[in-house]
Amino acid sequence: MRVVAFAGGTGSAKLIRGLQRLDVDLTVVANVGDNAWMYGAYVCPDVDIACYTVAGVANTSRGWGVEGDTFRFLEAAAKLGVETWFRLGDRDLATCLARTDMLRRGLTLTEATDRIRKALGAEPRVLPACDEPVRTTVSTPKGELGLQEFWVRDLGRPRVNRVYYRGASRARPTRQVADAVRRADRVVVCPANPITSIGPMLAVPGFRNLVSSSRRVVAVSPMVGSAPFSGPAGKLMKAAGERPDSLGVARLYAGVIGALLVSDADAGLKPRIDALGVECRLGETKMAGPADEARLAREVLEA
Ligand code: GDP
Repeated sequence: MRVVAFAGGTGSAKLIRGLQRLDVDLTVVANVGDNAWMYGAYVCPDVDIACYTVAGVANTSRGWGVEGDTFRFLEAAAKLGVETWFRLGDRDLATCLARTDMLRRGLTLTEATDRIRKALGAEPRVLPACDEPVRTTVSTPKGELGLQEFWVRDLGRPRVNRVYYRGASRARPTRQVADAVRRADRVVVCPANPITSIGPMLAVPGFRNLVSSSRRVVAVSPMVGSAPFSGPAGKLMKAAGERPDSLGVARLYAGVIGALLVSDADAGLKPRIDALGVECRLGETKMAGPADEARLAREVLEA
């Protein structure tokens, strides 16, 4: 079974681990909206967590970076007076510097990611959603912030007026993403922040049509009740004028997905989700460990 999984960060990594335990031909399409320049390197957090996850070297307790990584670079940089609010381990920095070098030599982000993924020894493919820069930008009363400034430096505290996807209108799904989606037996939208992880992909012209025309698209809601399992999804959904719950997720994905896996706790939302043309499937959507990850992955493939 050929499976394409659209992925953001932490929640997506859990489902990807579950999918890897099943006998599937997996391709991960990773969000590029939170890519940023840090310490002179081009950092691609969601692309890298996907690569580390499929390679089995991700730090699963923190949800980012490489297991057992050290932070000597950051310690030295801090002594030199560099602002070090963006945490980046030494091995992680090596990935970012290798990518920066490849991009400077003219490789696309897709090509650079493929080299890195292979060098890490991972079999499942990881594809950035697009090669052009798409920058998720948070508009606050104090001005516009990149996602890393908003969430990591300012701890998600500033009031959010709007979220923009800078550059999205000039971006296109890559040929590799389009081919993978067309060949897929199942497309999975992993539990991810609908505004900052899946939103930047859906904002790219051609993406909605590409995904909705694939065989069967099943998403997992990152929300339970009126909050996400983690992260700023609720606050950002509200800023986008959407309800911060699984009905809001269904509305954002309507027309693209066929089914949405929703927590049993939200059974009351089922009639309204079904009415959107999105089949609401109820179950346990929390992944507290490897057994949950594999169970949910199986449910997604069977849905
Ligand atoms: P973030 O909002 O910046 O953390 O962006 P991500 O795309 O990395 O978001 C992770 C998403 O996964 C969050 O919206 C979480 O609510 C969600 N998530 C985390 N753990 C779980 C889980 O165990 N189950 C489900 N269904 N979602 C999860």
